[in-house]
Amino acid sequence: SFAVTGATGHLGRLAVDALLRRGVPAGNVFALVRDPDKAGDLAGLGVGIREADYDRPDTLGPALEGIERLLLVSSPTPGDRVRQHSAVIDAAKAADVEFVVYTSVLRADETELVLAPEHAATEDVLQGSGLLFAVARNGWYTENYTAQLPRYLEGGEILGAAGDGRVSAATRADYAEAAVSLLTGDVVDQQGYWELGGPAFTMSELAATITEVTGTQVVYHDHTAEELTESMVGAGADRGTAEFVASLETSLARGELETDSPALENLLGRAPTSLTDAVRAATL
Ligand code: NDP
Repeated sequence: SFAVTGATGHLGRLAVDALLRRGVPAGNVFALVRDPDKAGDLAGLGVGIREADYDRPDTLGPALEGIERLLLVSSPTPGDRVRQHSAVIDAAKAADVEFVVYTSVLRADETELVLAPEHAATEDVLQGSGLLFAVARNGWYTENYTAQLPRYLEGGEILGAAGDGRVSAATRADYAEAAVSLLTGDVVDQQGYWELGGPAFTMSELAATITEVTGTQVVYHDHTAEELTESMVGAGADRGTAEFVASLETSLARGELETDSPALENLLGRAPTSLTDAVRAATL
């Protein structure tokens, strides 16, 4: 049996879909959710629903009973992640789970990206657990940009501090499918670390693609990290959030979200969704 954590979230839900599309019978798929009340649509797919809250380890043992392969979708709460992920990994060990796939971030062990240390620490916990595992080191989601499309179109601009940095973004659906490819594959072949990303683009290229697809001119305006922080604070963001965003932009500028690894394409068995197609889909 297969289980997916965070299954009420975007990526988890797409992973459940990908398992079913791959032909895994719904009876062998378990959606692990923090709040079963939010899982009505998942239950409608015929998959099993089990409560699994990273913050309540007592829920994790029962949730993993009989599970052979587990997709651990990383938690959305920075600061709590290592404790939360460790609780799941401990429970997976106790439940004799055969194979764990964890969603990490590109080059988690060597990048200066502020989000990376918690992912690297989780990878270390997996390594020390004795479990067989694969790490899907995901790049940025294309949706980080396409979700802002209405704002870009309204203002006619994208603000950032990424310079000419290239980002190898891919859609959540592609990352979900790749994670499921790892999860369902041969354990010996799939274990280890996978650097996953789609075709790279700069923020200027993103603006040009949006202009081309929508017919509305959008230009990229580059700032220093300090200028971006002050402009966000001026627009009402709290300083901590603004500094966090600016630090991610600095990582982009340094090329930390770029990869030339073909692993995503190899796991998908096709080219990842192009930026043009992702932008087009977001405008429909
Ligand atoms: P979502 O925010 O859509 O989903 C997060 C999921 O985690 C939700 O199902 C949420 O449950 C669940 N969750 C939160 N807290 C707990 C908990 N204590 N116990 C169990 N489950 C919990 O994120 P995405 O699906 O878009 O992304 C998945 C992960 O990828 C994120 O959590 C984050 O770690 C990372 N990420 C990566 C990005 C990238 O660009 N590569 C961008 C953003 C995030 P509930 O529905 O109950 O809230």
